[in-house]
Amino acid sequence: MTKKKILFTDLDGTLLSLNNYSFQQSLSAIEDLKAAGISVVFCSSKTRAEQEYYQEALGLNEPFIVENGSGVFIPRGYFQKPIAWNTYVTDRYEVIPFGKSISHVRKAISSKREEHALDFVVYADLPVRAVADLTGLDEEGSVRAMQRDFSETILKGEVTSRFIEQLDVEGYHNIPGSKFQTIVSKTADKGRAVNVLSALYKTEFGDILTYGLGDSQNDEAMLAAVDHPYLVQRPDNSWIDLNNVQAKGLAGVGPEGFSRLVKEILE
Ligand SMILES: [Mg+2]
Repeated sequence: MTKKKILFTDLDGTLLSLNNYSFQQSLSAIEDLKAAGISVVFCSSKTRAEQEYYQEALGLNEPFIVENGSGVFIPRGYFQKPIAWNTYVTDRYEVIPFGKSISHVRKAISSKREEHALDFVVYADLPVRAVADLTGLDEEGSVRAMQRDFSETILKGEVTSRFIEQLDVEGYHNIPGSKFQTIVSKTADKGRAVNVLSALYKTEFGDILTYGLGDSQNDEAMLAAVDHPYLVQRPDNSWIDLNNVQAKGLAGVGPEGFSRLVKEILE
């Protein structure tokens, strides 16, 4: 019997082109994966609403991992077998939370911000228009980025090392992104999310084969948790150096590398 295959993939700079967040170049590869019954699981820093947008645009109905491993969203009824994890249910999903809820995160941030008399701003502080100006997203994209379940991003202003240290004591760390830094629960972990989801696939399908694809350092935990880790090229044609994972470098920047891997999987 052939094994059920699952492709865990980063979005920005991997499935999506880095300069315009477009999925056009990955579209036909996604269609090939769907036709072959291979599951595509997004694993990124993006929010539920952002990932839903891409799921819908690509005609996918798969589990996905949000906000840097803070939670796994599984479409209700996706697995026939019960999910043996601590979950909560929404109208569309069973959710496995790894991070603290956004209300806890925001409370911790604002109390420390006040204590240290800092004047940085996060998503929750701003109207849509201001978020759009700071992020370069359009207004609809900004609304999706603002719908946060587990983590907050510092969009403007300075934080101090003392502030970061105190949040660390409370169970949060600071994940630097390409433009902004995000405060995330330490219990959030892309690798753990991939492992838990893989175990669910195993329970459902028996033998599975997992692939992982990313473009940057913050994909390392995801790549460490799969059978076959791969990297796409960065816009300068280089592959990022990973500390502890031997990932295979694909020829092709972003979506071009994504499409190449899909070809390899299908061969
Ligand atoms: Mg990326």
